[in-house]
Amino acid sequence: MALQVLEAPVLADFPFPWASQLTDRRQEKDAVCRFLATVGVHRSGLWQRECWCDSGQNWGAHAPFLPESVAEGHPLPNFARMAGLSRRDASCFQAKVPTSQHFSSWEAYYRRRGIPLSSPVALLMSVPLTLHCFMKLAAGLRPDEMPLAPGASLLILILGVQKEIDQWPVLLELACLLPQVHLHLLLVSPEVPHSWHKRSTVYASPDKTACGDPECSCAFAQRDIMKQDEDEPQPQSCLDGPDLIRGSIRLTFVRGEYDGTLAALLQHEYGAAHMVFGPNAGLAADMSWIPAVKELLGFGRPISFFTDYCDEAIHLAAGMLAEQHDS
Ligand SMILES: [Zn+2]
Ligand SMILES: [Zn+2]
Repeated sequence: MALQVLEAPVLADFPFPWASQLTDRRQEKDAVCRFLATVGVHRSGLWQRECWCDSGQNWGAHAPFLPESVAEGHPLPNFARMAGLSRRDASCFQAKVPTSQHFSSWEAYYRRRGIPLSSPVALLMSVPLTLHCFMKLAAGLRPDEMPLAPGASLLILILGVQKEIDQWPVLLELACLLPQVHLHLLLVSPEVPHSWHKRSTVYASPDKTACGDPECSCAFAQRDIMKQDEDEPQPQSCLDGPDLIRGSIRLTFVRGEYDGTLAALLQHEYGAAHMVFGPNAGLAADMSWIPAVKELLGFGRPISFFTDYCDEAIHLAAGMLAEQHDS
């Protein structure tokens, strides 16, 4: 516990000029609300689940309209409009990030997407970028099971979704970061509204690196990349492949508690999953995770990643996993 306290400043070290308003431990309880109000998004659109003001409503109540499944080729929506931000401050869903462009920090992500550090978009992008980071990690650890080459098709289960239901459009950022892969995300939890069960929506990944609007963040990203290439030419990644290969993203919602029975049903209907992700799971705090953990600890199961709320929660989750493994 003492070590966790000592490490706390490292975890609170963000490059954003607004970060101290949210990470200062002396902050007032409504600091998040006040911050969201200063950037004009408090209790609006995709931001409604970032504070507790509207927490009395069911998950999905704040979600943007989920279009019916459409033919592949449908372009991604305008994310800036959905997030209530200017195009300068939001990731551009009409612009892909070349696969050779890597990023391992928030600064690098903002630079690649051409977004100024004053933008609050990191609060929304935390889940898709964490998933992206785990996908890259899994591809490194088990390349045969987690192919990220152009044209590959991947099925990823996201378990225990709650705020991700209301914020589903943010996951579409993955289509811009992996524009040559066909991604199918299954969002599974008992909180998925009845009317969303087994509903899917599909979009084509962007095939350009800029949308054409000179004031959009993607135009600033382009200028930055061109300048960087002049300074030090980047080698073409073998993962980039021919530009002809254009990926897609499909989101499917499934209502239910993940356990052996649901896992078998999902496999029968959608195929074998390549990876499992549980964002901010609270594994040790919530007994309802036990059937999912038992299932995922079985032989030959997909590589699984969970995140939790704090160091202590991760410590307790590790103990819970060890206990289930031995039982
Ligand atoms: Zn609030
Ligand atoms: Zn753009």
